[in-house]
Amino acid sequence: MRTSKLLISTLKETPADAEIVSHQLMLRAGLIRRLASGLYTWMPMGLRVLRKTEAIVREEMNKAGAQEVLMPSVQPAELWQESQRWEKYGPELLRITDRHQREFCYGPTHEEVITDLVRQEIRSYKQLPVNFYQIQTKFRDEIRPRFGLMRAREFLMKDAYSFHVDQASLQQTYDDMYATYTRIFQRIGLNFRAVLADTGSIGGNASHEFHVLASSGEDAIAFSNNSDYAANVELAEAVKPAGERPAASATMQTIDTPHKHTIEAVSNFLKVPASQCLKTLLVEGAEKNSVVALVLRGDHELNEIKAEKHPLIAAPLTFVTPEQVHEATGANIGSIGPVGLNIPMVVDHAAVHIADFVCGANEDEKHLTGVNWGRDCPEPETADLRNVVAGDASPDGQGTLEIARGIEVGHIFQLGENYSSKLNAVVLTETGQSQVITMGCYGIGVSRVVAATIEQNNDENGIIWPQAISPFEVVLVPVNAHKSQRVRDKAEEIYQQLLAAGVDVLLDDRGLRPGVAFADMELIGIPHRLILGERGLDNGVIEYKHRASGEADEFALDSVLEAIQ
Ligand code: ATP
Ligand code: MG
Ligand code: MG
Ligand code: MG
Repeated sequence: MRTSKLLISTLKETPADAEIVSHQLMLRAGLIRRLASGLYTWMPMGLRVLRKTEAIVREEMNKAGAQEVLMPSVQPAELWQESQRWEKYGPELLRITDRHQREFCYGPTHEEVITDLVRQEIRSYKQLPVNFYQIQTKFRDEIRPRFGLMRAREFLMKDAYSFHVDQASLQQTYDDMYATYTRIFQRIGLNFRAVLADTGSIGGNASHEFHVLASSGEDAIAFSNNSDYAANVELAEAVKPAGERPAASATMQTIDTPHKHTIEAVSNFLKVPASQCLKTLLVEGAEKNSVVALVLRGDHELNEIKAEKHPLIAAPLTFVTPEQVHEATGANIGSIGPVGLNIPMVVDHAAVHIADFVCGANEDEKHLTGVNWGRDCPEPETADLRNVVAGDASPDGQGTLEIARGIEVGHIFQLGENYSSKLNAVVLTETGQSQVITMGCYGIGVSRVVAATIEQNNDENGIIWPQAISPFEVVLVPVNAHKSQRVRDKAEEIYQQLLAAGVDVLLDDRGLRPGVAFADMELIGIPHRLILGERGLDNGVIEYKHRASGEADEFALDSVLEAIQ
């Protein structure tokens, strides 16, 4: 490829609205452009990176025996009603009505569609196991799209769904996918960890997330310094639904509050997805999703929220930690006093273990008082990482825990019969009986992987691509070529030579001043740079610079190929 045939739109200034380095650099290097909130165009240069990432994912999925399909991105509401997710999924689901007033959604994920396909196409246990995948655009109406493609509304996902006669077969594919994901992220050259994850609202037996370690990560993960133990800290915050938990105490009381604090209202106000930063704490006597207590995960969010005022209430929001409450009142948070003040309670997540809480109920003007979900409850099934700090003993008894921030780039999940039973996806067994299929699902945020790679690979001059997904492997910059036929001819010759050798090379034939051309290429982050000029030609050499190390070298003109190996 020649730069004269490629739109290069680099920016000198860092765009003001880009908070994290990957977002800044993707804009500055001209890889993406914003259309609207959470919607981005991939520019020609950026798309090359996305396609290379996709190719690695596809190759490894194929190697693992998965079959590629491509499902529609628009999905009929009926299927989602059948799986009971039409209501449950909430506002993240973009709902559309067609000209016949039929309801659809733009798919945030494809469990329903693939299960519908399988229930029609697969009849016998002999056709199982099977694993279908696609690499396709998803839409999630994220409450707070941010960080560019890291948390976009429209993004590219590889999603796979496997179908089995029994748990043992599911486990095998799950293990294969775990290994496949490990290979994919290794090939890209990422520093990542697989961690135990919450099976959350979907249920199911086992789940792992793959996290790229980066300080900008939205998740906190804990891992042992002396074993393979690693978990998403969020894991332990999963609160069991009412009924499964020991009876919690709560009394409904009328208090002076002009509006009800539903999860939706509060999460809208906070612009934080309920699933991420808020935990619905269910207590006896309250409907699901009806009790609102806010449990924020860290100071980061608290500070952001502090800057805002609740539009509906007169009093400013009060943010407290249990320590502050105890210090001020001597009480175990029960008397923090939002009652009557119309203040949604916002507490630090350490407060989960305290007793006698007060929180809003979903009945107008009612609050629950004396809520006690903590002290007397037994430990959750999973390791309790809620208050974990670096240096704590690892739950597996081996070593101590370290805490790091992570970007979730992949997620694998044993779904069991969750969808197949609701959609009645069955096969005939060896004995001719009808049996519900067991399922697994496996996602990779392909576009997020690109952003996460930049988070880990950059310096003050720009991106430093790992070779595997770099838009080009090599850039060849002829210096002052417009003045020298000799340089032009030799550059063309080397360019052709590299192409013939299968090297993904970019010839910078824009004729810019060398400093400007070099700055562009450093910003874009191409791993190897070759510079050809009059002086080099006189001496029979070509200059070389390695983007990552900054090391410069010279090579004989006839050994260019070896230089970039
Ligand atoms: P998150 O916790 O970041 O919201 P998720 O758990 O909702 O992600 P999954 O349903 O597990 O996401 O989807 C599979 C993968 O899709 C994720 O691991 C992530 O890499 C990617 N992904 C999810 N949401 C987004 C988004 N808004 N923008 C970009 N990638 C995303
Ligand atoms: Mg999400
Ligand atoms: Mg997640
Ligand atoms: Mg996930």
